[in-house]
Amino acid sequence: MPQTLIPPGEPCLLSNFDPGHHEGLERAAAEEETRLHCTALDELAYRLFAEAKRAVVVVLQGIDGSGKDGAIRMLASGISPQCLDVKSFKSPSALELSHDFLWRVHAAVPAHGRIGIFNRSHYEDVVVVRVRKLVPKAIWRERYAQINAFEKLLRDGGLTVVKCFLHISKDEQRKRLADRLRDPAKQWKLGPSDLEDRRLWDDFTTAYEDAITHCNTPEAPWHIVPANHKWYRNLVVARLVRKTLEDLDPQFPPFDPALLAKLE
Ligand code: AMP
Ligand code: MG
Repeated sequence: MPQTLIPPGEPCLLSNFDPGHHEGLERAAAEEETRLHCTALDELAYRLFAEAKRAVVVVLQGIDGSGKDGAIRMLASGISPQCLDVKSFKSPSALELSHDFLWRVHAAVPAHGRIGIFNRSHYEDVVVVRVRKLVPKAIWRERYAQINAFEKLLRDGGLTVVKCFLHISKDEQRKRLADRLRDPAKQWKLGPSDLEDRRLWDDFTTAYEDAITHCNTPEAPWHIVPANHKWYRNLVVARLVRKTLEDLDPQFPPFDPALLAKLE
């Protein structure tokens, strides 16, 4: 397992993490291991659902083309839909903008028993919002502390937050965007604003590094997932989510023998 964590209090420098890292694993071996994790996830998610006392949310952040959709497809292949909530955060609507930035996020948090996956999240409110100057610095700067307090509130309510930054290189993004543009089934995913975001690569990197540095708490740390290889990214995310659920060790509710006595 690579070191995906940054010690809390230390600044996040993405250049310290190799996006092409793959432990020397071959694709086939990684895919096989991922399948085993997905099988385990199905059973663990079912237990969490039966227990119905705690929940998990997997936050996926990363630049366009970093593989958020692919990671979701992998997790959803392992977990029964009845235990899973997938939420994609887009540019906020007028209604969402008329509330505080965490309002729409809180509403999407999975209920006890469920696993949520956030395709983007409240971290957009300190990343894209900062890069594109959608709110003044005095506002987004306060949000790091607000996010940490929010995530503590969620944790106190029985939610485990797993935060993954899908880390790709600028070259790899170029390849992926070019593939998308040439693929009739994928070109619709890209618009002019995505290409503009690519031009702002360095600003996004700085905004991500600051967000990760300020919101890398011991209870809800950031994981920097090497994501140049899709199969390795899937493996790292699958391992992380499995480990999270294994640590929670959800239990089936106890059997009530009185129920059996009532069965006619
Ligand atoms: P996609 O994930 O490619 O479908 O695109 C969603 C778009 O919504 C991305 O360009 C995000 O940066 C943008 N977005 C998500 N959340 C916010 C937010 N809070 N403020 C502004 N833009 C956002
Ligand atoms: Mg996009």
